[in-house]
Amino acid sequence: MPGFELFGNEERNEVNDVLESGVLMRYGFDGMRNGHWKAKEFETAFAKRMDTKHCQLVSSGTSALTVALAAAGVGAGDEVIMPTFTFVASFESIMALGAVPVLVDIDDTLTLDPVAVEKAITSKTKCIMPVHMCGSMADLAALKRISNKHNLLLLEDACQAIGGSFEGKPLGAYGDLGCFSFDFVKTITCGEGGAVITNNETYYINSDQYQDHGHDHIGKDRGAETHPHLGYNFRISELNAAVGVAQLRKLDDFLAIQKRNYTIIRKALSKVDGLTFRRVPVTGVENYSFVNFFLPNAEVAEKAHSALSEKGVDACFYWFKNNWHYINGWEHFRNLKSLAPLPKEIKTQIQDLNTTDFSKSDAIMGRTISSLVKLSLTEEQVRERATKMAQAIQSVL
Ligand SMILES: *Cc1c(COP(=O)(O)O)cnc(C)c1O
Repeated sequence: MPGFELFGNEERNEVNDVLESGVLMRYGFDGMRNGHWKAKEFETAFAKRMDTKHCQLVSSGTSALTVALAAAGVGAGDEVIMPTFTFVASFESIMALGAVPVLVDIDDTLTLDPVAVEKAITSKTKCIMPVHMCGSMADLAALKRISNKHNLLLLEDACQAIGGSFEGKPLGAYGDLGCFSFDFVKTITCGEGGAVITNNETYYINSDQYQDHGHDHIGKDRGAETHPHLGYNFRISELNAAVGVAQLRKLDDFLAIQKRNYTIIRKALSKVDGLTFRRVPVTGVENYSFVNFFLPNAEVAEKAHSALSEKGVDACFYWFKNNWHYINGWEHFRNLKSLAPLPKEIKTQIQDLNTTDFSKSDAIMGRTISSLVKLSLTEEQVRERATKMAQAIQSVL
């Protein structure tokens, strides 16, 4: 997945354009910037690639989620439905606005279970936030039906699945809003960065203003701009955007390499009896950033994970027992350990995350292993990795 594996002169040249003018900010200083508008250039190219009308670049994927929620009017006491298997940014972005995360089970897509989503809807629900984990997507058709029926927002977190598609639409472009991260380990990177995409003009204008202190961005004098709403600073720097301009041009090449490498690994693992693959919803096309598979039970999965690392196969993840991506690992969140008092809406409305029954998610995550698909390996090296993986897993079955 990581775009940093293929970083080179293209990125350096774009950054140099910015260094030569010294205008490190994305707004203003028109006379000094030698015509370089890297953030704007990225936004135009990204909106086009993602087949959407609007793109707002921001400082991270986490800020993209916060800005998207704020732009669509999600705030204090509103409930946002999110999955148990995700990155901490999901609940961080929701809670930053005083909104309340509602965690529900995943299914064998490794993303939101539509049945669990519908059960969790209350009069306070405002948004459904599917997270397209590890290169593949939630059942967006089912989630769209639910969000239409209950008049809810559908906000896609596509940070880990850039370039995948559903019903022929790029992931992120199917819902009302889509969010991306360009942090250092994502498929394309800006160093740090993120984006919101939408076809809704109001959400776009709100995003543009919210991520820059509420500035209306009308005219050429920043000091004279008005502030239609309160905002914050989630701006990206021109230097980071410049890296992204070069990386975005390589996205389709990266995806082709990922697909090649993924296919080699998948083929080798298909021969292992007892191993099955994560379900990809009908019409879905993965971005091939991970190969995700299930073993018969948690005990075998844990053994397989150890066998993989003993064989020297790196970058295989057993999410069930690590501190990153599954509710089991989020002790700080389950116990609401915050530096300062939390908004009362969160304290009074949030479910008890220590006692809620997530056994359905446990049953799936306990059996799941994900192998990162690297960009920098040669075909020969990927074949070697695939053979080692199959042998290691076979040895514990
Ligand atoms: C990386 C990631 C984010 C957050 O992105 P940052 O740019 O690191 O803030 C959000 N959601 C998912 C699923 C991610 O993988």
